[in-house]
Amino acid sequence: MEIIVAKNAGFCFGVKRAIELVTRAAEERAAIVHTLGPLIHNPQEIARLEGRGVRPVDALEEVREGAVVLSAHGVDPGVASEARARGLEVIDATCPFVERAHEHIQALAKDGYAVVILGDPGHREVTGLAARAGGSADIVTDAAGARRLPFRKKCGLVVQTTQRRETLREVAAALADRCRELHIFNTICEATVKRQESARELAEEVDVMLVVGGRNSANTARLREICAATGTPTHHIETADELSGDWVHSARRVGVTAGASTPDWIIGEVVARLGKVAGEAEGG
Ligand code: SF4
Repeated sequence: MEIIVAKNAGFCFGVKRAIELVTRAAEERAAIVHTLGPLIHNPQEIARLEGRGVRPVDALEEVREGAVVLSAHGVDPGVASEARARGLEVIDATCPFVERAHEHIQALAKDGYAVVILGDPGHREVTGLAARAGGSADIVTDAAGARRLPFRKKCGLVVQTTQRRETLREVAAALADRCRELHIFNTICEATVKRQESARELAEEVDVMLVVGGRNSANTARLREICAATGTPTHHIETADELSGDWVHSARRVGVTAGASTPDWIIGEVVARLGKVAGEAEGG
């Protein structure tokens, strides 16, 4: 069995940066470093960081003192203000690509455009994006959602950084029929595009695809959709323990890709486990 890892897989620039920021903060500060919600969408990496003294909390009310780290996905700006008002140190790990989407939304709202966001409702990044429009943004997940919007004079479309380009194209086309003037910002980040292209190319070459990443990770979910759409049997796992030998025992080539929040050590464990399964299959 040949095991091939996608050319672009695993940690992206924004996630690496967030982890470096939080690790340095935990080493340098005597006070406890908290992350508001999970820093990234990978439970195993979050557990590793907890071992280094980084404590995730669900709400600011749980933090009495120390520092609060805003995740790579960004947050509602009100959260940072409230943290400062409570006397907490704020460490902003928002990815610069998410910040760029914030800026586009603020400019659109200021210029009187109705803001439409293509994204997963309830996802932390999307909540932070919507907050930049003063809470008046419409969130759509597909073209059907865009077609249900009322007709407007001026519309601005901004995209969650981990969406698919195909979905953006479909939503933009649908929105063009729902307004007179349409301004589109393609804010899908380069790391996402590269991971999606590599995953699609690899899925077309192999017999089975494994997509490794947190079940709560939006970009991992997109990779799974893309691989499955090629017709190649695709399995989404968080860790090597979830890998079933039955999925791969008759495969000649197995492809592995991983979400932008999946650390190299988890990808390494999956590859090692695949190697073991392959050895057992060959040994009979
Ligand atoms: S996926 Fe893109 S936008 Fe999100 S953290 Fe990574 S580099 Fe930044």
